[in-house]
Amino acid sequence: MSKNFEVVIGLEVHVQLNTKTKIFCSCPTSFGDEPNVNTCPTCLGLPGALPVMNKEAVKKAVMLGKAINATVNKKSTFERKNYFYPDLPKGYQISQFVVPIVEGGELFVNVKDKEKRIGVTRAHLEEDAGKNMHESGYSKVDLNRAGTPLLEIVSEPDMRSSDEAVAYLKKLHSIVRYLKISDANMQEGSFRCDANVSIRPRGQEEFGTRVEIKNLNSFRHIKQAIEYEVERQIEAYEDDEYEKEVVQETRLFDVKSGETKSMRGKEESADYRYFPEPDLLTLEVPEEFFGVEIPELPDAKKQRYMDEFKLKEYDAGVLTSEPELAEFFEELVENGCEPVMANNWLAVELLGRLNKAGLHIENSPVKSDKLATLIIRIKEAVISGAGGKKVLDLLMEEDIEVDAAIEKLGLKQVSDESAIEKIIDEVLSANADKVEEYKNGKDKLFGFFVGQVMKASRGKANPQVANKLLKEKLK
Ligand code: ADP
Ligand code: MG
Ligand code: ZN
Repeated sequence: MSKNFEVVIGLEVHVQLNTKTKIFCSCPTSFGDEPNVNTCPTCLGLPGALPVMNKEAVKKAVMLGKAINATVNKKSTFERKNYFYPDLPKGYQISQFVVPIVEGGELFVNVKDKEKRIGVTRAHLEEDAGKNMHESGYSKVDLNRAGTPLLEIVSEPDMRSSDEAVAYLKKLHSIVRYLKISDANMQEGSFRCDANVSIRPRGQEEFGTRVEIKNLNSFRHIKQAIEYEVERQIEAYEDDEYEKEVVQETRLFDVKSGETKSMRGKEESADYRYFPEPDLLTLEVPEEFFGVEIPELPDAKKQRYMDEFKLKEYDAGVLTSEPELAEFFEELVENGCEPVMANNWLAVELLGRLNKAGLHIENSPVKSDKLATLIIRIKEAVISGAGGKKVLDLLMEEDIEVDAAIEKLGLKQVSDESAIEKIIDEVLSANADKVEEYKNGKDKLFGFFVGQVMKASRGKANPQVANKLLKEKLK
């Protein structure tokens, strides 16, 4: 990236709301069913069928509005956005254009240790289209998705690098998952992003021409697509080809080549001939929705983990990045684990093993009660830390209780003082010459004695107890 140019990015994110039924009819929103089974006259767009607003979708939009400090409009409007596409049998999409339900919010992102505010222009409700499925020689249309509720969240052009864009998306993704208003599964398309990208020479106030890259569905692709596009625009500028090569258009990111490719010229909103949806009333948010409770969100939770549990900022950030991880951690603490130790065994040991196995915390074979027992056994010095890692390996493989696993692996430590004392006496009398040297000032030998005691106990002596007793004996 060149230091002579500034990058400007604004993001549009489509979040599929996890209501049971569609936005304007009572068809189910389930994913992966036989094509076209979840349809009715309304979502098929048959003439005369009337839409009825889904109240749950409104509630979920309000929750997002509250979470990003936005204004929730008491009244908002629905308009028809007209365009032709085979997966849109009505010939128009019902969306909110003139007055959206949510306006003027904000998100905070942390990039390179600097906190930055990103404005959110608006969030509006709309219906999703169906899906075109292209097979060899012909195409088919599946309308199961037609009418699924979407919340489109539009940011201000406030981001200045691909890292900031990814940080914004991750934060928004995390908030949506904490609110549980969407499963936000990127592979299944429940959280998809269009990136608007432009450049301008540093110091120039006016924005450059923006290009919109459509339907990016992984954080990695978003970063790659933006970086490719920025390079392309800078090169065009430097080659004096900017006017010709950077035009307002929609581009697609090609995953294989890592390039963005022109898809179509960009429509202006006038092209859609928006007009008020005559079949729906003005949307009025029910009074009780304004008081809807939202859960503790990642930023607040992170701060609380730092204050209450004395966790480092980095650790608190990792634990609160996903609601399932934070819940798991809180269950460990509720089960009596010391927070710093709980963080280490969860974020380093368990997550490391899950990563290797290609698993996510929700599908962990080791649940929080089991990990808590393991952590407590280590704290009680029933087993050593190193022994704990071996036990965890076994718990990952086998459905076995912690104490049974300790037994099976023969890892129980000896903490009984008289037993350890006996071993120490044997070690010291077998090494009388070294004891003499130690007493004459060769302090370094202490480690040697500890080593011998551990060896004689075949690694099972509790090292703290062994240390303490040795010190007493050698005084
Ligand atoms: P459209 O539906 O035509 O794409 P929207 O208003 O929904 O228009 O979204 C426009 C998006 O583009 C917003 O996220 C906005 O921040 C962003 N944007 C506008 N101008 C620029 C620009 N010059 N460079 C980068 N992003 C921009
Ligand atoms: Mg757009
Ligand atoms: Zn329907």
